[in-house]
Amino acid sequence: MIQTFEIAVFEGDGIGPEITEPCVDILRRMADASPDYELSFTEAAAGAAHYAKTGESFPESSMATARRADAILLSAMGLPDVRYPDGTEISPQIDLRKALNLFAGVRPVTVKAGQKTPLNLPAGTEIDFVLIRESTEGLFFTQGSGEVSQDEARETLRITREVSENLFRFAFDLAKTRKAAGRGPGRVTCVDKANVFRAFAFFRELFDAEAKNHPDLIADHAYVDATALWMVQKPWSFDVMVTENMFGDILSDLGAGLMGGLGLAPSADIGLEHAVFQPCHGSAPDIAGQGVANPFAMILSAAMMLEWLGHKHDNSAMVKDGTRLRDAVEDVVARGETLTADLGGEAGTGQAAAAVLDALFVT
Ligand code: NAD
Repeated sequence: MIQTFEIAVFEGDGIGPEITEPCVDILRRMADASPDYELSFTEAAAGAAHYAKTGESFPESSMATARRADAILLSAMGLPDVRYPDGTEISPQIDLRKALNLFAGVRPVTVKAGQKTPLNLPAGTEIDFVLIRESTEGLFFTQGSGEVSQDEARETLRITREVSENLFRFAFDLAKTRKAAGRGPGRVTCVDKANVFRAFAFFRELFDAEAKNHPDLIADHAYVDATALWMVQKPWSFDVMVTENMFGDILSDLGAGLMGGLGLAPSADIGLEHAVFQPCHGSAPDIAGQGVANPFAMILSAAMMLEWLGHKHDNSAMVKDGTRLRDAVEDVVARGETLTADLGGEAGTGQAAAAVLDALFVT
């Protein structure tokens, strides 16, 4: 029986609309060609430009659309010149994470053989790991409400049993799914600082408890400082890594750096019911409106969305289409003929997206 899914689409700010349009077009065509699923798209307004126009950054109706949807596809939000009266930027994507309890920030890091990377990788070596960043607590717990006096500033790091148990269960499930798909040995590494902080000893204890439920998988630990070193020295050795919010914030940018920049870095923020899929990069106001933005990170995020929906709803055709879409982007990148300027090419956004469509339907 054909399954139908509603996707809430936030085209966001800056280059957002430019990369959203071709991405949604690709998804429409894939769904149209499939007898196993249908996609409907509902646009929702939010972001800095919307705030500048209406005085509202995230209308209630958009939140309702996000809550109702089966998945949320978001480009990027925020413009440096548009701010709230307190001087902070408009960032509804962060509000969404909190409102929908999206505790698992999934950041895949892949480098195919021959792909540009700042590392000098041994010939034929590929990188393929996933960093999971807890995204609702940790050192971001007091975000916006830290205490600052004349002589002192304080923020609170919070680790809870409930969120950590969900997080670790998610990490082991992901390692199992990857192993079944022939990606990785089924290993989860808990990245912490348990040698120094009691909160991280607690984090690690909860990780070890969850590991006991997965005797078919490998569980190990690493300190965050050593992890930063190893991500540069031997990034091919990781499979699934799971860590606290601030550590994950920093390590995920290191991961994007390994991939040669933000233009190929997709992400997902996943909770028990909802999930948001968006590129790691921002709204790139410096190149907005020029038609030169790289759409690949957005398209790779859409591929993650198809895989997530497929796994969640037992729709193997969608899982396959997600993999097919990721492979198509990787194929275009490997061929190197239709790359945008950030990847050293001369193609515009439309040409780069068209090359992905060709890889999907023509070659
Ligand atoms: P940015 O990621 O927007 O841009 C950094 C650099 O990377 C720029 O030179 C930009 O041109 C380039 N770049 C980014 N995405 C690109 C793409 N797809 N193709 C080609 N080049 C690309 O980061 P920033 O300049 O620090 O932030 C700009 C705005 O975006 C700010 O308002 C910031 O708050 C917001 N932001 C939003 C998100 C999000 O929505 N998740 C994330 C980061 C930043």
